Amino acid sequence: MLNLVLLGPPGAGKGTQAERLVGRHGLLHISTGDLLRDAIKAQTPLGREAKAAVDTGVLVPDQVVIGLVQERLSAGTPDQGFILDGFPRTVAQASALERLLGELGAPLDHVILFDIPIGLLEQRVSKRAEQSRALGVAARSDDNPEVLRRRVEEFVRATEALSPFYRQQKLLRLVDASADVDGVDAQIRRFLEC
Ligand code: AMP
Repeated sequence: MLNLVLLGPPGAGKGTQAERLVGRHGLLHISTGDLLRDAIKAQTPLGREAKAAVDTGVLVPDQVVIGLVQERLSAGTPDQGFILDGFPRTVAQASALERLLGELGAPLDHVILFDIPIGLLEQRVSKRAEQSRALGVAARSDDNPEVLRRRVEEFVRATEALSPFYRQQKLLRLVDASADVDGVDAQIRRFLEC
């Protein structure tokens, strides 16, 4: 069983690496951003509550995302590992996760931090928006330069607190996310082999 957290700013490549990890290890992929976007699309009460925050790039209240993750993790099978992508983002979320995983008897193995210069994120996110448009799919409402800046600021603030939290627990693994997809993949494989 492999239990992972992927930490990284928007555009760092977490989603792409998560897909590869799911393919290789059959993990349950829980992306709080995806869960929130689905709830917004379906116009559920939770989606209506979260929409303004997601559209403007600020964090949704801790209790909302903690509830979403709790629901998903508890619904998984006990021997299936998981990847948390975009969660936790605050120390309160990390502490709630620790409690929940303690109850489930499924501790974390690695917290992978995607390290990448901000300039490169802007290029990657605008490329993602262009690719969506080329496919005739609406670009994400938060993939625009102004909101991206806010999302990156939120991420920097969050990691300042989360990195020491996980470093202290000896779970933090740093990858150079400016490498290409295969290069980042190779770095992650090396961590997982240890
Ligand atoms: P993402 O797809 O991970 O970039 O998330 C998109 C947006 O969803 C973020 O800008 C936040 O508004 C919201 N969001 C996703 N995950 C969380 C979280 N763990 N805590 C609070 N807000 C979140």
